[in-house]
Amino acid sequence: MVPSYASATRNKRGPRKKNADFRLSKEKPLPTKGGESVKLLVLPAQEGTKVTRTLESSNLQPRTIGLLNIVEFASGAALLTIQADKAAEFGTRLPELGLRLKPRDRRRMFSFRIHDIPEDLHVPDIAEHIEAATQAKPAKVSTVTYNSQAENSGKFAVVECEHALFNLMRRKRTLLLGYRRCRIDTSPLLMRCRTCSLFGHTKNTCPGIPEEIRPEPSQCLDCQVYNLRMKKAGLPRSRCRDTKHPAGSRDCPTKRCLVKKYVAERRPADDDDRLT
Ligand SMILES: [Zn+2]
Ligand SMILES: [Zn+2]
Repeated sequence: MVPSYASATRNKRGPRKKNADFRLSKEKPLPTKGGESVKLLVLPAQEGTKVTRTLESSNLQPRTIGLLNIVEFASGAALLTIQADKAAEFGTRLPELGLRLKPRDRRRMFSFRIHDIPEDLHVPDIAEHIEAATQAKPAKVSTVTYNSQAENSGKFAVVECEHALFNLMRRKRTLLLGYRRCRIDTSPLLMRCRTCSLFGHTKNTCPGIPEEIRPEPSQCLDCQVYNLRMKKAGLPRSRCRDTKHPAGSRDCPTKRCLVKKYVAERRPADDDDRLT
């Protein structure tokens, strides 16, 4: 039998040497998420300064503080991955350098929308229906009338809840309210400006589209603005994002990042490995 290309190139002795080395080094296991390493978001002393510069000019050696990785942000902040056993000590040395940890935000609630709710159903009825269908109580229910003039007859509900109820709703996808089966939307509600249509701010705090950027239909505006911020902050070009996709599409790395952040802000506290 003639061997196929895949079987001919396959390494029959098991994993590659690189992996084998990792496996053998039992004294020094590789740090895993939430296990032997901790991620700390460190903020610069003042605006316009960088955490990495402050650390470089200090007498702290990367090895002493157990530094495993560093990701810089355009704001000057840095996400440091530190060996878990050294993280507490590093945390106590931050104030003398003028640095500080980003305070943990209040954990936000998950939320979902229920669309096209019958007119005669009000907030208490909706909450009751949800509880009857899932045996779980929503934290807050509010109703909103549709903005569009064409559909001015309808309303939808915004429901805030804990993770368990959110997960149940995500699987249900519809809910019977009165005689109507209503659609459930569990996609993240990301902040998007109504003036410039960029992510991350509202029309009340809109800084406008930067002058350097020429909007083109074939280029994602959100990713162009992100790349400009990276460039202005002097961060490497490798951090720039691909811009050849429609804004807000599934392929947009800026949107994917925001969704990841949205979920992280809401995940249960026991799932959090950050120090505070
Ligand atoms: Zn704007
Ligand atoms: Zn994009």
